[in-house]
Amino acid sequence: MNTWGVTVYGNPCRECRFDWSISVEAAAALILDVPDRYAKLLEGQDGSARHPDLTWSVGAYVCHVGDNLRIFAERMWSAVEAKQVHIEGYDQDDLASVRKYEYIPLDTALWSLSHAAGMWYEAYEAAFGREATFNHSERGPQTLSDIVQPAVHDAKHHEWDIRRSLAV
Ligand SMILES: [Zn+2]
Repeated sequence: MNTWGVTVYGNPCRECRFDWSISVEAAAALILDVPDRYAKLLEGQDGSARHPDLTWSVGAYVCHVGDNLRIFAERMWSAVEAKQVHIEGYDQDDLASVRKYEYIPLDTALWSLSHAAGMWYEAYEAAFGREATFNHSERGPQTLSDIVQPAVHDAKHHEWDIRRSLAV
């Protein structure tokens, strides 16, 4: 079980109900459904809906989940292909600011998310086959499960954020 995730969000997650005891294989497989789930959820939307408690619009969440998957795809690929296992945290709000999420059309964000999910799964399969491990600057030594579960939770949690933003 992912102790970081359980400590921060509870098990299951207090908000999106993600179960942190899910196996790494089952968790990873969920990423393949994310682009379709997001596209269906956002059908007929322009991406501008925003929950009053949240800073980001639903379109910005799509951009964030795509960026997060792409970043972690690169990290898994780096560990396998270049034996570069060091991971530094990144500030998601800084990234949103420099990327100007609010100006990325929803259809573009969904297209990008679809590619990011494919990249992520390709890197996951490579990392799983070679039993990759990582070293996070703040969280210390990380197994593949420690890397996979937070990425999958991020996608599930923001699906929950998008759902409640559209329900307002
Ligand atoms: Zn959650």
